[in-house]
Amino acid sequence: SVCCRTCDVAVVGGGIVGLATARELILRHPALSFVVLEKEKELAFHQSGHNSGVIHSGIYYKPGSLKAKLCVRGATLTYEYCEKKGVPYRQCGKLIVAVEQEEIPRLQALYERGQQNNVRDLRLIDAKQLSVKCVWSAAQGLMALDSPYTGIVDWRLMALSYAKDFQEMGGAVVTEFEAADIATVTESPAGSIEGMKYPIAIRSSKGEEVQCRYVLTCGGLYSDRLSQISGCSPEPRIVPFRGDYLVLKPEKHYLVKGNIYPVPDPRFPFLGVHFTPRMDGSVWLGPNAVLAFKREGYRIYDFNTQDFADAVSFRGLWKLVFRNIAYGLGEMYRGVFVSAQVKMLQKYIPELTANDVLRGPAGVRAQALDRDGNLVDDFVFDGGIGDLGSRVLHVRNAPSPAATSSLAIGEMIADEVESRFNL
Ligand SMILES: Cc1cc2nc3c(=O)[nH]c(=O)nc-3n(C[C@H](O)[C@H](O)[C@H](O)COP(=O)(O)OP(=O)(O)OC[C@H]3O[C@@H](n4cnc5c(N)ncnc54)[C@H](O)[C@@H]3O)c2cc1C
Repeated sequence: SVCCRTCDVAVVGGGIVGLATARELILRHPALSFVVLEKEKELAFHQSGHNSGVIHSGIYYKPGSLKAKLCVRGATLTYEYCEKKGVPYRQCGKLIVAVEQEEIPRLQALYERGQQNNVRDLRLIDAKQLSVKCVWSAAQGLMALDSPYTGIVDWRLMALSYAKDFQEMGGAVVTEFEAADIATVTESPAGSIEGMKYPIAIRSSKGEEVQCRYVLTCGGLYSDRLSQISGCSPEPRIVPFRGDYLVLKPEKHYLVKGNIYPVPDPRFPFLGVHFTPRMDGSVWLGPNAVLAFKREGYRIYDFNTQDFADAVSFRGLWKLVFRNIAYGLGEMYRGVFVSAQVKMLQKYIPELTANDVLRGPAGVRAQALDRDGNLVDDFVFDGGIGDLGSRVLHVRNAPSPAATSSLAIGEMIADEVESRFNL
């Protein structure tokens, strides 16, 4: 029963970040009690269950940033974890391919960046070496960055495996519990033992209650709302970007055996449409990035009034839109017309045609945005002040590659929880 359940630490959000952190916390503190509260029937249903499934090696991120450090460590921990627990994965490698002359300096800069981030086994290859390498894939280009350490895994399965570890160590998981309010306990008589010991109450939208000493929120697309309901800052705000994938028809799977990525455009945060083999044998192409009208809406026409009103009333969004209008319209156009998306993909695999692909699934990214319209690039964690705020820690921004980084993020947040809450 969740009615008046008590625990030392409640983790709100059963995605890969919440589960990795809950696992790490219980490993370090087996004598304490922990609960994970998730609003869906299933764990890892949203971003952690709707993504490209790539184990990133850490090439792209600014040296010294949390993203760079956590991705590089996270990739190593992921491979070790998969080996230990028998989670299927494939270290199938990745090529970042320059198809235009002007992309070559950016590719070289990316190589330098990867070296600074200590990414393993990176090398630049020319067109001739690329054609040899492409025995396993039909990619073509002028030059490429070869990253054999990149791999693929089903991140949802990983998250479920973290949950299993957590539960085996005595942690509790409660699904269909949507945290609607986080407040200091008021009902218990002032000074009562329970009131002193578990001073925070998390109430669900159905009226159930969990009382605890500390709260950690890992709410993905709702991280700003969770912060708001605990009296902490509503900013950075979350703006949802839907990414639609195409899938390759089975008879064309031979075209793609490893990950093929474009040279990213530094003006935009997403990595561009890519070719990704999946653990189930399918091949996904994409995703694009279009503004979504529903935070957890996976179809083009999904609409939620509150999510829409939230987005359009936020000044930061308008600044972002006006600065990137051409790019945004291009992404929408390619989302509607498959042939336009395929034309872009043909730069890398010329023999691909619109007949070789079908519309596939979609994912929605939680993109944090500040009031000046800047995309918040790195991970952000914060709490508040006062009786309530000082007992709460929010994971505000856990963008890609947070799945790859999840075990490292878990370690870092556990350190933060220990020092903030004096566990
Ligand atoms: C299209 C796409 C492709 C990506 N590709 C990759 C990739 O290849 N490799 C990689 O490393 N990363 C990738 N990522 C990023 C990665 O998937 C995410 O960064 C990661 O899954 C974030 O995990 P999370 O736990 O923070 O969020 P989520 O998985 O979204 O989990 C948040 C959870 O909180 C729950 N929640 C929210 N509000 C409440 C509430 N009020 N009460 C209770 N529960 C609540 C939600 O239901 C959800 O389960 C991709 C992301 C997307 C969208």
